Amino acid sequence: MNTTFDLITLGAGSGGVAASRRAAAHGARVLIAEDSRVGGTCVIRGCVPKKLMMYAAGFSHALEEARGFGWTGVSGRFEMARWADAKAAEIDRLEGLYRTMLDTAGVTLAMGRARLSGPGEVEINGQRYQAPRILIATGGAPARDAIPGLEHAMTSNEVLDMRELPASVLVIGGGYIAVEFASILAGLGSRVTLAFRAELPLRGFDVDLRARLAASLTERGIELASGVDLSSLEQDVEGFRLLRADGSTLRAKAALNATGRHPNTAGLGLEDLGVTLASDGSVVVDADSRSTVPGIWAIGDVTNRVNLTPVAIAEGRAFADNEFAGQRLRVDHRTVASAVFTDPPMATIGLTELQACAQGPVAVFESEFRPMKTAFAGGTSRTYMKLVVDGLNDRVLGVHMLGTDAPEIVQSLAVALSCGATKRDFDRTIAVHPTAAEEFVLMREPVRRTAGVAPA
Ligand code: FAD
Repeated sequence: MNTTFDLITLGAGSGGVAASRRAAAHGARVLIAEDSRVGGTCVIRGCVPKKLMMYAAGFSHALEEARGFGWTGVSGRFEMARWADAKAAEIDRLEGLYRTMLDTAGVTLAMGRARLSGPGEVEINGQRYQAPRILIATGGAPARDAIPGLEHAMTSNEVLDMRELPASVLVIGGGYIAVEFASILAGLGSRVTLAFRAELPLRGFDVDLRARLAASLTERGIELASGVDLSSLEQDVEGFRLLRADGSTLRAKAALNATGRHPNTAGLGLEDLGVTLASDGSVVVDADSRSTVPGIWAIGDVTNRVNLTPVAIAEGRAFADNEFAGQRLRVDHRTVASAVFTDPPMATIGLTELQACAQGPVAVFESEFRPMKTAFAGGTSRTYMKLVVDGLNDRVLGVHMLGTDAPEIVQSLAVALSCGATKRDFDRTIAVHPTAAEEFVLMREPVRRTAGVAPA
């Protein structure tokens, strides 16, 4: 086998596959190494199986609503093993597609754990390969060190492979993976306690979304154990006990550790070559994803910038276009839309109200209502929408939504924000009726104007 390439990519996840295919399309000879399964976190143990589980959970609510719409005899029982088999088949199918895509692009795949064995050299299964450019795209993995005992809990990897639904689950963490699984497991029928240290989940999101999400999780029967430091997790014959700093103990049959992720850099041989790693283990890179050592780049979760699939893909493609097609592209990490797939889901793009206020005067527009479908079926859940607008130039700085279809709606509005849309542009847009999304173009008066803190 040929051992000399133009590019060697470590990791066939979202970023690595995108970069390798794009480089090959520009004529580069590319080798990609994968230690586990082609497709990486997103396809095998992240976004895709999680969303398939979310769809399964959504049926409990849909069945309830159906009764309000005149359907009778609608009921059912969730069989986790049947879902698990169908999910496994779908992930196999997608992995097959990813392998075919690499093959069609002419990228050589080497299965095995890769490490850097010298300048411009990578070792995979005892075989050494050379290339002038090496791309680290090894992603991340669940962290297990936030409190003692977490190693006994499931992580997102195992929860997606469960064949039986636990009667009760302690979900530990307040980030998006924690709230998503809390919502999904509750929807499937588990009794869920969501334990985290802060007062509200989802640090970094707009506080009005965080507060409303907390309320809607509670409304869906999830117990929120917040505002208290977590001390340790213990396992006994009954299940799990989570000890908290105020002396209280939470119990459940199962425990899910969703306290965060760490970059996969251990054992890669990066430090031996002088590549600088940050204190969290991530590869330090510049705006062009260059590491501190010439000839080594890093993209995606291993750099711990914005840990989302589309960002890893954009970084990978920008690297390939710049290095193999002479372009000068940079990924803008400031305006990245993101979604949280709870029930109801939320989605956001741009600045939170607090962030915007720190930059200058702001006008805030809101709309909150019971959606037509929910109201008709006698449900109580509400949809909340918020626009954060620059008080000086009328530009929309942030779009935030909690409610049915929020991720789909915010994805479309992300185009408007990328184009620099103003509130006046929203106002002159004619609504699509009857929809929930139309509320975004029908907000007339601000609910508040803040003077903001003028930038230094
Ligand atoms: P990865 O996709 O993690 O790929 C890295 C690959 O490198 C892996 O296949 C790994 O096996 C391989 N590897 C590691 N070390 C080596 C080695 N030494 N040699 C060879 N191969 C190696 N993002 C979203 O945008 N939307 C979502 O809804 C979403 N949901 C998520 C849900 C969960 C539960 C999780 C865990 C993540 C989710 N994410 C989501 C994040 C998303 O999965 C990641 O941001 C994305 O996968 C990062 O891509 P990557 O290429 O950097 O790394």
